[in-house]
Amino acid sequence: MNFARRPVAESGQTARLGFEDIRHGYGQGDVVKGVSLSAAPGEVLCLLGPSGSGKSTLLRIAAGLEQPHHGRLLIDGVEVTGPSTFLPPERRGIGLMFQDFALFPHMTVADNVAFGLQRLPRASRQAAVGEALARVGLSGYRDKYPHMLSGGEQQRVALARAVAPRPSVLLMDEPFSGLDSRLKDQVRAETLAVLRETGATVMIVTHDPGEAMGVADRIALLKDGHLVQTGTPRALFSRPESLFAASFFSEIN
Ligand code: ADP
Ligand code: MG
Repeated sequence: MNFARRPVAESGQTARLGFEDIRHGYGQGDVVKGVSLSAAPGEVLCLLGPSGSGKSTLLRIAAGLEQPHHGRLLIDGVEVTGPSTFLPPERRGIGLMFQDFALFPHMTVADNVAFGLQRLPRASRQAAVGEALARVGLSGYRDKYPHMLSGGEQQRVALARAVAPRPSVLLMDEPFSGLDSRLKDQVRAETLAVLRETGATVMIVTHDPGEAMGVADRIALLKDGHLVQTGTPRALFSRPESLFAASFFSEIN
């Protein structure tokens, strides 16, 4: 293989993300059973399904943290995972954000946000940190430590860290589930506004149909490792194609 040393998708651009017949398991049978799915450039796609349906596995495969035993993954048409290809996470031009924020407690806000920017020269790193913190409305927080911040503020720092390298694809695994329910709607709306501004293609994993309805351009509904329906939130809610989809969405209040 002969890849250039830069990520597949250029920083600051947006990219198509494609899964082609992905199958994967951990020993006793597959937990992802042939998923084909694509997210258009700039789209917010929600991977929705009950616990154990294979959402996080798909996200880790997209991130390059897991290599599926079958299928291909494409970023802007370039195969990054395939039968004889495996591009490591740092070469994919993707950003990651997980449920528990995972801020480093011993580092300042600025150092947390700078974490993914080590390859940049010092001056541009500082500029990128400033820009990312401004995006999430935390410009005055550079020298604070995570324990000094509220849950919502910590979530914004994690978001700043994820967008600071200007990834073309951003992968988020249950990014709001650690938050107080009072905060959730506000943080979700703020996060979505920041994501729209960056123009990144976003894949959000959630088990909460209400959340998917609120943030997604399109929802991909998973059950037991299979995709059961893909469409706009409105389509899934008002025209479910299975009893499973109908009952899943009936939980929304
Ligand atoms: P979801 O995110 O939808 O809850 P996961 O992708 O995390 O689903 O898990 C799908 C299935 O695979 C579950 O049954 C889970 O227990 C199993 N699983 C996930 N990760 C591992 C692992 N590292 N080792 C063994 N089994 C795993
Ligand atoms: Mg999960």
